[in-house]
Amino acid sequence: MRVLILGGTTEASALARQIAGDARLAPVLSLAGRTTNPQPQPIPTRTGGFGGIEGLVRFLGDDKVDAVVDATHPYADQMSAHAVAACRETGVPLASLVRPEWQRHADDRWHVVADAEAAARALGAEPRRVFLSLGRQEVHVFASAPQHHYLARLIERPEQTKLPPDLRLLQARGPFDRADEERLLRAERIDVVVSKNAGGTATYAKIEAARALGLPVVMIARPHKPAGVAMADVDACVAWLHGLAPRGV
Ligand code: NAP
Repeated sequence: MRVLILGGTTEASALARQIAGDARLAPVLSLAGRTTNPQPQPIPTRTGGFGGIEGLVRFLGDDKVDAVVDATHPYADQMSAHAVAACRETGVPLASLVRPEWQRHADDRWHVVADAEAAARALGAEPRRVFLSLGRQEVHVFASAPQHHYLARLIERPEQTKLPPDLRLLQARGPFDRADEERLLRAERIDVVVSKNAGGTATYAKIEAARALGLPVVMIARPHKPAGVAMADVDACVAWLHGLAPRGV
């Protein structure tokens, strides 16, 4: 059974590891191509956009895809909308794996905003030292609040040229450790953290560190992400795929 996994996340890689070598499944993992040196994967991969809904419909037909698992990031809402539309059009079954959100603790000082633009406004007029940990696609938005000092942690440099004037880039890939995060926030004298509600464990340490230091977090809320059949975890995806796959192969 031909399976297309829409990836770019820890969960997609875990699913790839779990079904590699499964004789009933012939998977292909799709990456958007945002990272130049993605982690090696144990199943065949393809890279780059499909060309909108139309392109994905074509891909599903040309590649004779029997099932799609959307395991993209909680903030990758466009890819998910395209997957829902293309699977509806072609009748290909779609499962969606989205990791649960982080929940606010009593000691958390979260200020929840709708998007990166609102996060930049929420930082206020007074200059502050800001830790940006939200991926490279939105760092440029903070050029609209140039009074702040920004430390942005990213896997790769932002593509945009118009960036905040007082910006330092810290190149690193998670998972991150709580004690290291606390040390970083202290050493950089950070006043406020800007984050997405990514969920999962790999990047949660910064939220715990902010809580321990009593720092506010400007939390960008999740977008509406269209979904197919909701899956709780990787095991549920594998069971769902096996339920669709012909037996006895
Ligand atoms: P997006 O806004 O939902 O997607 C934008 C376009 O990128 C899509 O329309 C599609 O192009 C292409 N695309 C996205 N994911 C793809 C995939 N897995 N395979 C092939 N094409 C893909 O998504 P995004 O926010 O740019 O995220 C891109 C990738 O980075 C995803 O794999 C996502 O899981 C990962 N990621 C995103 C975030 C985040 O905060 N947004 C964080 C960590 C990882 P076409 O229309 O041409 O098909």
